[in-house]
Amino acid sequence: MSQVHPPKVGFVSLGCPKALVDSERILTKLRSTGYEVAPSYDGADVVVVNTCGFIDSAREESFAAIQEAMNENGRVIVTGCLVGEAAQIREEHPNILAVTGPQQYEAVVSEVQKAAPIDHNPLLDLVPAEGVKLTPRHYAYLKISEGCNHKCQFCIIPSIRGPLQSRPIHKVLREAERLVEAGCEELLVIAQDTSAYGLDVKYKPEPWKNEMVATRFRELCDGLGSMGAWVRLHYVYPYPHVDEVIPMMADGKILPYLDIPFQHASPTVLKAMRRPAHGEKVLDRLETWRNICPDIAVRSTFIVGFPGETDADFEMLLNWLDKAELNRVGCFKYENVEGARSNDLPGHVDEAVKEERWHRFMAKAQEVSQRVLAKRVGRDIEVVVDEVDEEGAIARSQWDAPDIDGCVFLNGETDLAPGDRLQVTVTHSDEYDLWAEPVRN
Ligand code: SF4
Repeated sequence: MSQVHPPKVGFVSLGCPKALVDSERILTKLRSTGYEVAPSYDGADVVVVNTCGFIDSAREESFAAIQEAMNENGRVIVTGCLVGEAAQIREEHPNILAVTGPQQYEAVVSEVQKAAPIDHNPLLDLVPAEGVKLTPRHYAYLKISEGCNHKCQFCIIPSIRGPLQSRPIHKVLREAERLVEAGCEELLVIAQDTSAYGLDVKYKPEPWKNEMVATRFRELCDGLGSMGAWVRLHYVYPYPHVDEVIPMMADGKILPYLDIPFQHASPTVLKAMRRPAHGEKVLDRLETWRNICPDIAVRSTFIVGFPGETDADFEMLLNWLDKAELNRVGCFKYENVEGARSNDLPGHVDEAVKEERWHRFMAKAQEVSQRVLAKRVGRDIEVVVDEVDEEGAIARSQWDAPDIDGCVFLNGETDLAPGDRLQVTVTHSDEYDLWAEPVRN
């Protein structure tokens, strides 16, 4: 006999968009197996904690989340990037039900089934074709590959997630098509290195819409760009072949937006970090891109205080930032990560110096952002609405990714709904955000 009430699974998702995609996949599988998702620890028969182990503060947050789930519920399965710490997790919590690694969707589902068995066959069509989304319905992350072939000295992701493994292009395009059919207005393309897509499979052609299409960055952008949704590229490196997609941005096929984690501008620091494309002349490349697509927005992240970074390296970074006029930047102070090779490098920077550099970096970034945003005032632009409350709508422009970039505030526009796309006139700007009103014909 079938259970009247299917078991409920609590879910805690930590970490980056890639981890969020893992969580979505696990939830999709659990829902398709007949489980319900519990909104609180109380009502959950078992709790899954998807952890992040990227930097020490993320590890601490993950350990704290496990502790909380154990205190509040006690029936806990841990998954994700903290798998390298399985021994410590088990030592601290001998009653933990299971510890599995990133992308081990099936293992998590089978552990949930052991912990809270379900005794009826699910109806697969109860699951929306686009899967269970943790993001709002109008945008979705599209993971195109796993792993990474690089060896950045501060990063342990390749040792956790392995080398680059690209998903076949027809599978990625099919997933994107389903998302768009289900109402998704914006696809956020993610991977550890999006521009390396297909390298591992030697750009293998796959069947898609009566043609053979190569599993490659350009073809991917081409395919996604024909679906009618916004397509936003994250985690791209400034390799020469990225130039090929800039005309697609100029033509409006994909968003004029590139998220490129530069991390630094000093060649000495970049070399010490072993960053991909560290020898590229980035300012020249930015100029070329802006000549083809003047509206392109570039967002990036940086690390200050990497071992060996001198005052001169840091000044070079500030100057570079001024010249590069990036639209959005984030900055981290270097932290040792257990297992990272950079821990053993000479010349670790004093915490007080890191702090001071971080503040100077952020002040410069704010000055540049204010300057760049002021140029938008008076323009008519397209935005997508993310949220609506009693004061109005909070939207985003094509130059802003959700969660990490700025907003476009539409004060008083309470009749809009999340996912609406409309033309607005920008009326005001500050350091990070824009204000606008709908274009009225
Ligand atoms: S490119 Fe570098 S930082 Fe990014 S995942 Fe690969 S090794 Fe880590």
